[in-house]
Amino acid sequence: MTSSIVWFRDDLRLADNPALRAAIDRGDPVIGLYVLDEESPGIRPLGGAARWWLHHSLASLGERLRERGSTLVLRRGPAERVVHETAKDAGASAVFWNRRYGGPEREVDTRIKASLREDGLDAQSFAGSLLHEPWEVKTGAGTHFSVFTPFWRACLALPSPRAPLPEPREVHGPGRAPASDSLDEWGLLPTKPDWAGGLRETWEPGEPAARHRLREFLSEDLGSYDRARDEPSAGATSLLSPRLRWGEISPYTVWHEAVEAGGGGRFLSELGWREFAWHTLFHFPDLATKNLRREFDAFPWPRLKPTLLRAWEHGRTGIPLVDAGMRELWHSGYMHNRVRMVAASFLIKNLLIDWRHGEEWFWDTLVDADAANNPFNWQWVAGSGADAAPYFRIFNPELQAKKFDPRGLYIDQWVPQDERGEPIVDLGETRKAALDAYEHVKRASRT
Ligand SMILES: Cc1cc2nc3c(=O)[nH]c(=O)nc-3n(C[C@H](O)[C@H](O)[C@H](O)COP(=O)(O)OP(=O)(O)OC[C@H]3O[C@@H](n4cnc5c(N)ncnc54)[C@H](O)[C@@H]3O)c2cc1C
Repeated sequence: MTSSIVWFRDDLRLADNPALRAAIDRGDPVIGLYVLDEESPGIRPLGGAARWWLHHSLASLGERLRERGSTLVLRRGPAERVVHETAKDAGASAVFWNRRYGGPEREVDTRIKASLREDGLDAQSFAGSLLHEPWEVKTGAGTHFSVFTPFWRACLALPSPRAPLPEPREVHGPGRAPASDSLDEWGLLPTKPDWAGGLRETWEPGEPAARHRLREFLSEDLGSYDRARDEPSAGATSLLSPRLRWGEISPYTVWHEAVEAGGGGRFLSELGWREFAWHTLFHFPDLATKNLRREFDAFPWPRLKPTLLRAWEHGRTGIPLVDAGMRELWHSGYMHNRVRMVAASFLIKNLLIDWRHGEEWFWDTLVDADAANNPFNWQWVAGSGADAAPYFRIFNPELQAKKFDPRGLYIDQWVPQDERGEPIVDLGETRKAALDAYEHVKRASRT
């Protein structure tokens, strides 16, 4: 008796999972596999908050597969070796997965697909994480887009995203499953110290909670989304980002249910930004380490002052909106989008710290830390990215607070009055220094 393996990666769900659906349709018993790969070249190690989320999401997925008659095998090591070994142990004749779009991940997947096929297995990949494949969205000249508006217009002109696949009620598993690591052994949860209390208070990882949150958002918040999405105290956004990042819910499901709920274009276009970030990563695999606009390589970053970076990381800059955001992040693994923009701008343009330091901190502390969205947005704020905010547009965090948190509700929630210190830098002076540095980039790019 042979079996089919579904190799789960950033798609920790049963509903609308094309690889799982194809494996079930094949008729052989189905085995789920998750590989913790910290060894394949170029794969970025997960940050601490992401590891916390992953632990709980895998626990939920394993339980759901067991309830339906199958199992989730957990193994650790370089994916190329582990997938082969598991296929052998399981006597599998097929391995199916949903595609990944990062550079090193694609290389790994391409090699595995070729070698499995050489061994006579049926290896297939499916589209499950993006609404459109990156190679399908092209300019008239056949190149990829570097500006969002025409990109999104081109996406909307394509056939609408396919309808989501229903959740399988049964997943018929093998009589005896191959050996699995225990999830606890992987040590994904922090222990000494256990800093995850705020994460536990804030989130419930796993597919059922993701679906619940989507429904709740669509019935309660979608109507006020356009008006209130920029106010950090309004609770008006979907909070779907970690769920989309881990694939507990598919973008197809979100898209179709939002459209049915009368979802405004504004919310759908945020899904468009997610697409745009991923398509950009597909074309620029070094997005997290290299300026997309190479003239920014000439940016004269001053020598890093670690005390300033630490103050920013720990929400002790003396700028209330920035400190509130950084404390929200530290506590909950999340920060509201408007505040992400202000906190990132402050790091880059008032502290004159290279965006890559901020990107790394977010990578380690966000539960939605996403290989495309995070560096894409950091480069957007820095001015070095695709369709980026111009460098000379420098957010004034005090005016931003007046505009988007006029009653100070968000700031009060995260920074008590008696913890508000003096600003660690002068906003006006640092703004001028940043503009001078930018002039340098402009001059360098002309010569
Ligand atoms: C410096 C910086 C770093 C960021 N890092 C990440 C990250 O690591 N992971 C991440 O998912 N988002 C990131 N974002 C984008 C955005 O802040 C979050 O997606 C959003 O705040 C998540 O909240 P939500 O799910 O309630 O969003 P909603 O407003 O409800 O939006 C719905 C979905 O659209 C997508 N989306 C929304 N805004 C953006 C955007 N600007 N770019 C790409 N996709 C978007 C997300 O998947 C989000 O869940 C970053 C933004 C900035 C400025």
